[in-house]
Amino acid sequence: MDLLRVERPVCIVDPVKARRNIERMAGKAAASGVDFRPHFKTHQSAAIGGWFRECGVGKIAVSSVDMAGYFAEAGWEEILIAVPANPHQAREIDALAGEIALHVILDSTETAEALAGSIRNRLSVWIETDTGYHRTGVPIEDIERLAAIAGRIRRAPHLSLEGLLVHDGHTYGATGPDGVRAVFETSRVLLAEALAGLDARGFRWLKLSIGDTPTCSLADAFPPPITEIRPGNFVFFDLTQAGLGSCTPADIAAAVACPVISRHPERGEVVLYGGGVHISKESLRLPDGSACFGRICGMNEGGLSWGEPMADASLVSLSQEQGIVRGPAAFIESVAIGDTLVVLPVHSCLTANLHGELMVLGQGPVSKFRL
Ligand code: PLP
Repeated sequence: MDLLRVERPVCIVDPVKARRNIERMAGKAAASGVDFRPHFKTHQSAAIGGWFRECGVGKIAVSSVDMAGYFAEAGWEEILIAVPANPHQAREIDALAGEIALHVILDSTETAEALAGSIRNRLSVWIETDTGYHRTGVPIEDIERLAAIAGRIRRAPHLSLEGLLVHDGHTYGATGPDGVRAVFETSRVLLAEALAGLDARGFRWLKLSIGDTPTCSLADAFPPPITEIRPGNFVFFDLTQAGLGSCTPADIAAAVACPVISRHPERGEVVLYGGGVHISKESLRLPDGSACFGRICGMNEGGLSWGEPMADASLVSLSQEQGIVRGPAAFIESVAIGDTLVVLPVHSCLTANLHGELMVLGQGPVSKFRL
């Protein structure tokens, strides 16, 4: 494929950057002596999973039972499904637990009860806690509820209690690196107190799994009681992470290459064949208050990498199949119909999810999980 003249929007991956991101995070986990269980919902690709394996990764997290099945088929033998277990899928969970070391999370005695009644293969269970994100998880101060759930898991012959797990998604709302580190420190102290409370009630040696890319990128280390990190987005990063300070734009390893299909220099705009269905409608606010759906780069000669994002050029509007790029007059004048422009995504997980395959620069297309 000629990436300098793409026919349709293509999700491209720079393997040099992605592998560097993986090596850096694996090295950080090793330096703190914690397990590294990357979340594969970002790339969802068995081939890219192989890059993690080359870095010594043996266990992963995914975001659905179906995705766990896909990676089990690709040879992964320990998989955590990192959304609260759905009792209606107990039969599928049990079947997969008969094939691999399967881990699930839950945040209620009801779900623990449902799994206790229906799981016949060994299933590892983590209790999800909430330290401030307020999506799922037992409020971290509620030791009695944590102990009740832990007790119900312990009494079930096929369930094995692993420990506590948290996803501090509220780091995404923090202001800059210090804000992220402050969320992390508050969360770590609350989790340590909860573990001490459980220890006092007889639940000893519980593990603690944390995972969000801002924390894992910006924390200097992962001190006890943390035993595992579980970030996912860092493999590709994106503009959201660059805005938080988790990475620089040069670390962003996934983008969408789009053909230019219409020019409007009088408006300072060109239009891409590339819309919400290829890039996702996730947006950032620019300093002037306007929305940005992506930043714009050029494909480098040879099509093996893309350049730095153009200053002051961004994707300002998206419809289903098309996107409007606005930029400085000289840049817009220089763009011809049929040129390829590269869009750095605001949220790479959602962008990659929209594509049936990923084009690895210099290597070719790789397939990925698709429902
Ligand atoms: N763990 C859980 C439970 C998650 O929901 C997510 C992401 O949504 C992650 C880990 C990975 O976090 P991030 O996308 O910040 O890398």
